[in-house]
Order: sequence, then C-alpha cells, then structure tokens
Amino acid sequence: MTFDQKVMRKKLPKEVFQALQETIKSGKSLSEEIAGVVAHGMKEWAMENGATHYTHWFQPMTGATAEKHDAFLTIDRDGSPIERFSGGQLIQGEPDASSFPSGGMRTTFEARGYTAWDPTSPAFLMKGGKGLTLCIPTVFISYHGEALDEKTPLLRSMDAVSRSAIKLLGILGVEDVSRVNTYAGTEQEYFLVDRKFYSMRPDLVMSGRTLLGAMPPKGQQLEDHYFGSIPDRVLEFMQEVEEELYLLGIPAKTRHNEVAPHQFEIAPIFERANIAADHNLLVMEIMRRVAEKKGFALLMHEKPFAGINGSGKHNNWSIGTAGGMNLLEPGDTPESNIQFLVFLVAVMKGVFKRAGVLRASIASIGNDHRLGANEAPPAVVTVFLGDLLEKVLDAIESGKVDFATEKQVLNLGLSHLPVLNKDYTDRNRTSPFAFTGNKFEFRAVGSSQPIAIPNMALNTLMAEAMSELADQIQARIDSGVERECAIQEVLREEIAATKPIRYQGDNYSEDLQQAAADRGLPNMKNTPQAMKVLVDEDVRQMFVTQGVLSQEELDARLNTRLERYIKGIDIEARTMQLMLKTFVIPNVSEYQGEIAESFNALVEASDRIGVSARALKSQGDHLKELSEGLSELIDLTAELDAVILKMEELEEGFETADYCADVVLPTMERVREVADRLEFMVDRSKWELPTYSEMLFEH
Ligand code: ADP
Ligand code: MG
Repeated sequence: MTFDQKVMRKKLPKEVFQALQETIKSGKSLSEEIAGVVAHGMKEWAMENGATHYTHWFQPMTGATAEKHDAFLTIDRDGSPIERFSGGQLIQGEPDASSFPSGGMRTTFEARGYTAWDPTSPAFLMKGGKGLTLCIPTVFISYHGEALDEKTPLLRSMDAVSRSAIKLLGILGVEDVSRVNTYAGTEQEYFLVDRKFYSMRPDLVMSGRTLLGAMPPKGQQLEDHYFGSIPDRVLEFMQEVEEELYLLGIPAKTRHNEVAPHQFEIAPIFERANIAADHNLLVMEIMRRVAEKKGFALLMHEKPFAGINGSGKHNNWSIGTAGGMNLLEPGDTPESNIQFLVFLVAVMKGVFKRAGVLRASIASIGNDHRLGANEAPPAVVTVFLGDLLEKVLDAIESGKVDFATEKQVLNLGLSHLPVLNKDYTDRNRTSPFAFTGNKFEFRAVGSSQPIAIPNMALNTLMAEAMSELADQIQARIDSGVERECAIQEVLREEIAATKPIRYQGDNYSEDLQQAAADRGLPNMKNTPQAMKVLVDEDVRQMFVTQGVLSQEELDARLNTRLERYIKGIDIEARTMQLMLKTFVIPNVSEYQGEIAESFNALVEASDRIGVSARALKSQGDHLKELSEGLSELIDLTAELDAVILKMEELEEGFETADYCADVVLPTMERVREVADRLEFMVDRSKWELPTYSEMLFEH
C-alpha cells in the first residue's frame, strides 16, 4: 500500500525513476515535468488499488495530522467525467487551512497555508470508510515560507546535521560522504481499555486520563502483567494492527505486556528520522482505528491512571552516512574508534550545553505527570554511558591513553570495542538519555508526542556541537598541531568539560536531584518552566544559526505550545468540575441520604429494641464521616470553580500557564484526594463512574 521503490520501478519510466531517486537521496529539486510523470504513475497505481481520492497529509502544530481529501474525478471541458492528478497537484496543495494554529505568524489577510510534497517520505494508501485514499506526505508552510508544521523544522534539522557532520568527518579525514542522516526507532507504549468503560468516563473522553479514581488494593505491585501472556482479544488487536502497518511499509518488531495492567508496547524498525516521524503518527492512527473496531479505547496519554506506570515513547536515535555507516558504532580499528569517540563526545557536548532544549522538547501536560514519577525518567537530563565507556573516557581524560599511536590504543583495548553491545550498555533503565550500543535512547519522550519535535531538538543541538567541535580541532591544526594530537587534545578537553552531564546512578533517587543542583544542571519541573528555555536568546540563536527555526517561527512554537498547555488544563479542570457536580456529589449525597434514613430509623427504634449507646455512636460516626467528606468535597468544588474563573482574568502566555501549574493542578489534586476517599465509602451501586478495578482488571 505504499508507493515504494518496487512500485515506482514498475510504474515509472526509467529516467523518471532515477531522477526521483536522486531527489530522495540528495535533496535535489524535482522539475514540474518529472513531477507530472510521477503523479501519473502514482494515480494509476492508487486507482488500480481502489483509491478514489487523494490528500496532502501534513502535521500542523496541533500534535496531530491533518488531511483534506480531493477526488481524482473532475469534469472535462466538454462535461464528461475524467480522472486527473497533475504534477502540480502532487507537488503543491493549498488547503484553506486558516484555522490551524500559526502562533501569530499568519495575519488573516495572508492566512493561506501551502502544503508541499516531501518526496523522501513514501506516499501511501489509507483505508477509511468504504474506500481508499492516496496520502501524500507534505510539509505545511505559509505564503512567505514560514514553517506552520512540525515536519519542516525536522527536515531542516536533518540538513543541519548533515552539513556539520560532513564538516567534522572532513577534519577526521573522511572525505567521500555527501549526506549524513539521523535515524529514529520508536518504542511506543499504550493502554487499552474496554470501550464501554471508556465512554462512561468523561475524563478519559475529554482529556485522555482519569482525573478521579481510587487505586484498587491490587495495582501493579505483583508485576504479574509484565511480559505475561497477552489476552486473546488484545492479541487479535495487535495482529490486525501489525497487518495494517505491514501494508503501509511499517514492520512492527516487538509486542509484549508492559508493567502496568492493560499496558502494551509496539516497536517498528528504525528509519530515517523524518520517515520514522511520519510512521509513528501512522502507527498511532492505525492503533486508534483498530482499537475502536475491536471494542477498545486506545489511551495514548502519558499518565492515564494515577499511581500506575505511565506510557512513554523511547526514541532510539542514531546518526549515520547515507551510505550506511553508523557514526555511533564503535569499530574494530583505531581510526574508526577515534571517529566513534569524536561523535560520542559531540553528543555529550550538545546535550550538556542544551539540556534545557532537550527538556523543553518533551514538555507537555501529560508528560508533566509522568516524568519523575516512580517509573519514568526524571525531568533532569543526564547521559548514561555504561561502565566500559566511562572507563575509556576517564582514561582519555586523565591522559593515560595516547591514541596518537596505534600501540597504546591497542593497549587500552580501544582498537576493538565489540563488547559494547546492549548487555553492557543498557543496564540503567532509569536514565532519560542512555547509550545503547550504537545509538542513544531518549526515554523521556511522552507516548502521545509526535517525535518530530524531540528529534528536531536533538538534531539541532548535535549540529551545533559537531560544528563547534570541528572548529576547535581546526583551530589547533591551524596553529601547527598535528591532526591526531589536535583531535586528542580537543577530546580530552571536552570529556572534562562535559563531565557533569554524565550520570551513572539511579535517576529516581534523591542523589540525582542533589547532583543536578550541585552540577548546575537544569531541573525544570513543569511545562511552563521548560518553555522558558525558548525565550533564552542564546538558545534562539542556535536554532537561527543552524537554519532550523527563525525568530518568528520560534515565537510561533512557544505561543502554540503554551496555548495548548493552558487549553488542555482548562479542559481538564472543567471536566473535573462537571464530574464532581453531575456524578460524585449527587452519588455521595444519595448514599448519605440512605445512611441518614437508616440511622434515623435506628434511633427511633433504639428504645424499643434496646440498641446500645456504642452502636448508636459508631453508626452516627459513620454517617458523620461521610457527611464531613461530602461537605469538604462541596467546598473544594467551589474552590475549583473560583480557580477556573480566575484563569480567565490572567494574561495569556506564561502568566496563565504558571497559574495552571502552580494553582489549578494542585487544587485539582486536593479535590481528587477527597473524592477518591469517598469512592471507597460509598455503595458501589450508587457510584456511577467505572472504577479503576473495572478498567484495569476486566478484559
Ligand atoms: P529495547 O531493548 O529498548 O526494546 P530494541 O533492540 O528492541 O531495544 O530496539 C528498540 C528500537 O531501537 C527499535 O525500534 C529499533 O529499530 C531501534 N534501533 C535499533 N538500532 C537503531 C539505530 N541504529 N538507530 C536508531 N534506532 C535503532
Ligand atoms: Mg527501550
């Protein structure tokens, strides 16, 4: 179902096929004439497979994908129906998409957005309703060329990586590389709950997470779900998802139960980062559809259930030449190991200098609940390298190894690092950013987030670091130092300078928090705090210098992300308000009424039947506890009402966002505590909301 190389070869004349491959490989532009032939081939193929419509598929700054369908069918000049799809229609679209967020970049008189084909990401056929639609992956830009989507900056960041990596490789003496790419492989976690429970929970429907709900006596303490056998119904879901993904050219690799009940994972094989970003969005979309078909609701939220593990999306990231050489792969010759060490140090340099940027790239309402909770990486970004690499770096830093001579390299075992497989490097599951053999695993990414943003951030800081590293080495060479020595000196200097970012301990511990403070590592607790990084002039300069985002585009991203944060919390607060007023308070009141009635009857009959004072007291106390709890909840609900009203009076942007984090969420926490306590005091038949037990333990 994808217009991949095999299909292209069949459907396109040889010269056209070759021209298109050239474009895909080197980023050369495509002539309209060639595009016309490609469009024709694509249309033929799509229609043979039953497609009736096509759409430019893009990623506006909403965190989702967007599409606007057009039929192939048009009416000819003489009134007869014909199917048409021109090169122009393939290359460029003009959806009237003025309602997508632009973060203030587009004034209404030029509100048009344009979509433009990204030929490096294959077109595909998507099922939906009764038919098929040809989906063309595109970027989404404004009339003046500003990026209105997440994909354009990602593509630009990959170009930046390529430029800097080629420059650095050149200094290492590797000359024949014309393109370097970054690659991403996602491990996507998710929950499945039965649709009948889901639809009875306004919080799940509106915000994707439970805003209320008491933990059952059995949660995940026994860890009996982890890698356990997969329930049949879920297996069927997985099989169908895999089938659909396979048709779209996305082979899924693993599937197993996660630690939390009803939590699972899917991991497609890694691809070039921009394609992986497209494909991850498709994975989420296909899973959502299949779940619905199978009577499940798919929960992509980072923390759908309080007190139970959340969901992340480990973003495995690597950098390599288009020719297939992984630059983070330790090799078995001294030269390739020096190359490996240079790129490894570049990653550490970038992550150390721009830890805040990385943190900001994964900030979201959902991830704020997950990061730093018992199982997820903390909000502090550190790098885990593993024992062996730690030793190697320490030896280089202390001058014990001089790899200008091959002999000493061999002495340290640096000529051959085959032991660096995952068993040796991946022991620390608590690290937000861990080296795993020949790639880094960025584990702090949230399950629902499009990976375009974190990869864009990672690529940009890497491009900056590689370029700086190259300049440092070059400066030494220019001053007369021999190349090997220059490289070695710079590595030694950088290994020492970036030491604070290396953390091999338990990232869940108090020690990390202390280490973060001692070493001056950024520790941003929530989204508004993290987003302030994007106001920092030095950070902005990095994005501008690397050609990834302009000042205006940065502002747009800052504005839209703050706006989404505020709106999201507003929706959560109002949903909670609604649930309290229409479910919890009425349910508790009703039960209280019954208890009060039964207590009154007991009091009335007490003389007649001789009820002891003790019995009257304990039953009275029970009623009292319930009514005190209810009163507390009513008062807190009023407080929540006031807090929500106050939000509207504040200034948009940071003022409101900080208020959300500092006042709205804590108020909701306090409300929840009381409501959850009451849940376990009330007759189950009076409690209308599906409980945690039902959602998590019934299949
Ligand atoms: P884990 O033990 O964390 O589950 P896996 O070996 O299953 O690790 O790999 C997880 C993901 O990493 C997969 O999506 C895989 O395709 C991806 N991956 C493997 N090698 C690379 C690489 N060089 N660059 C990017 N991603 C990679
Ligand atoms: Mg992993």
